[in-house]
Amino acid sequence: MTPAEPNADRGAPTSGPLTDRYGRVAHDLRISVTDRCNLRCTYCLPESGIDWLPKDSTLTLDETVRLATIAVQRLDITAIRFTGGEPLLRRDIGELVERIARLQPRPELALTTNGIGLAARAGELAAAGLDRVNVSLDTTDPAHFTAITRRDRIDDVLAGLEAAASAGLRPVKVNAVLDPQTGLDDLPALLRLCLRSDYELRVIEQMPLDAGHHWQRSAMVTAAQVLDRLRSDGVDLVADERPRGSAPAQRWRVRTAEGDAGTIGVIAAVTSPFCADCDRTRLTADGQLRSCLFARTETDLRTLLRGDAGDDQIEQAWRATMWAKAAGHGIDDVSFQQPDRPMSAIGG
Ligand code: SAM
Repeated sequence: MTPAEPNADRGAPTSGPLTDRYGRVAHDLRISVTDRCNLRCTYCLPESGIDWLPKDSTLTLDETVRLATIAVQRLDITAIRFTGGEPLLRRDIGELVERIARLQPRPELALTTNGIGLAARAGELAAAGLDRVNVSLDTTDPAHFTAITRRDRIDDVLAGLEAAASAGLRPVKVNAVLDPQTGLDDLPALLRLCLRSDYELRVIEQMPLDAGHHWQRSAMVTAAQVLDRLRSDGVDLVADERPRGSAPAQRWRVRTAEGDAGTIGVIAAVTSPFCADCDRTRLTADGQLRSCLFARTETDLRTLLRGDAGDDQIEQAWRATMWAKAAGHGIDDVSFQQPDRPMSAIGG
């Protein structure tokens, strides 16, 4: 990854909220706490031969808390999501949540997980101050789950979902990236599970962030295909017209032909980008700051942290990075280049 463009920071405000040149304000920080994962989802990781980050380049608990403190107390970050890799692989995730939950003003705290290990840890995380979770589940079909994730762990994920709801980590959201071959056929059962269990399903278009760089737009299940399929299955869909703000999902009230009702979110990250409303700033597990999932540049906060940089210097580096944020992810541009790092190393 190339370092941030020199002088791209010219004009960045030195105080106040974390803004960019286009007037967007970042209030939402995604912290990837590890790049390691216990699944190998086809759209994210290769089956084998992964170069994990060296352990000593991953930020420690204290380093992560220091950056979160700067974000909350100097940069007006109000929401933090822990992600990865698989964040539950960090044994100290409970302590991390607890320490960040003690910050004033207290940020809203969420976690995105594949759900493996959540059954054992949901109570601990809720007690530590976690507010809610998103659990990734692309299908309820055990064979399809194993084909997508390359691991036979669906029962652990389902148990994790139940434990999250019981622990009060609500609303429990289910993130689904639909498989190009089987995903649309899997959708009715996935929706039924979510509606009957009071989980909010969010279907996400697959983005070009796979480790193998095999993504093809023509193979991706689009938001329009999802909605068409639901309608042709007799699902009644009513768009939620309330302003979305920076939320990526278009929400719909749904009622199935069987009478199950609730809400579904559809995230058209590729076919209908929401970059103009983006309010995110991202930190990788090795302490690199990114202004966008698709950024081609990163700012090395780890070296600043491990050098003698004070909080002022880190704050200004953060502001400069966000000031230089691109207007959009550019997936549709002819010049688009997929980031070198896969989603697992950036943090989804
Ligand atoms: N391991 C955790 C999990 O599975 O939720 C957190 C990390 S994972 C990278 C975060 C989210 O990114 C998951 O919901 C996953 O489905 C999604 N994701 C991964 N690769 C993606 C891609 N190429 N396009 C869209 N979403 C992707």
